[in-house]
Amino acid sequence: MESPNTLLEAIQYFSDEQVCIDTVASMRWMNGPVCPECDAASPYYLKTQKRWKCRECRIQFSVKRGSIFEDSPISLSKWLPALWLLVNCKNGVSSYEVARDLGVTQKSAWFMLQRLRLALRSRNFSSKMGSADGAGVEVDETYIGGNPLKMHKERRLKLAQARSKTVKAVDRYPGKATVMGLFDRESRQVRAKVVPNVKRETLQNEILANVERGSAIYSDQAVAYDKLAQNYIHETVSHADCYVRGQVHTNCLENFWSLTKRTLRGTYVAVEPFHLDRYLDEQMFRFNNRATKDNPLTDSDRFLLALSQVADRRLTYKELTGKVSTTGA
Ligand SMILES: [Zn+2]
Repeated sequence: MESPNTLLEAIQYFSDEQVCIDTVASMRWMNGPVCPECDAASPYYLKTQKRWKCRECRIQFSVKRGSIFEDSPISLSKWLPALWLLVNCKNGVSSYEVARDLGVTQKSAWFMLQRLRLALRSRNFSSKMGSADGAGVEVDETYIGGNPLKMHKERRLKLAQARSKTVKAVDRYPGKATVMGLFDRESRQVRAKVVPNVKRETLQNEILANVERGSAIYSDQAVAYDKLAQNYIHETVSHADCYVRGQVHTNCLENFWSLTKRTLRGTYVAVEPFHLDRYLDEQMFRFNNRATKDNPLTDSDRFLLALSQVADRRLTYKELTGKVSTTGA
């Protein structure tokens, strides 16, 4: 069978466990399987056990070892279609939908989705956006979170407690998390993350860490963006009277915010701030890997790209529920 192009084909294709193993192996080990303990190449494949055995240290390992699938009793024939859904459903996919579509419990589906989001975290964020002769970078911040007035009292209390532990909400918008975003008009890529506040120091440090000096920067007139002109060509737009003044606007970022909010509101209902960064990773992955005229990515391309990032990333239930902080890549 040809490699899949649609969800239905993916479910059929990955119903064969050996096909799942071969697909994951080829994406995580581009030059063939490597021992996760000692890095020795060309281990033996034990066909009946569907595991490899290292020639050097003699340990046996499955394709799940050292990946986001490690220690999961759920078969890859469910994991892979779940990943397909997550990267290709424009507005995200809820744990209820995954549970129903793939025949797992909602709790398992929720945990699967959280682990899968880990594979969607970009590895490219170490390089800087913008350049002195580039098309410029848009900067903006937004507030994300449910309306506390519409919530059940107990939930409101729980959320308030979770928030005070993780993200210190700004006084202006109690109960909401602050998210800062950057959009590179040259590469058409977005970066967004939860920030503790909207102080000048916080936002400007993010800009310095992510944008090449000398780039053009477009922002609104918030005082936090004062003094950017020391390092950048800074132009501002007043949201009060006009959103667009030629090149000077933050509309691309606004578009990303509205997509993100639609997903969070429509599919995920309410997200604890503790998990917000992972939902942003998911949203950024779909946005930054969307099909464009210059880069006509397909559903299958997005799926394989995510699959190539499953290794060296783990998330345990303990970490996920906040009992231990996540470390490493
Ligand atoms: Zn070994």
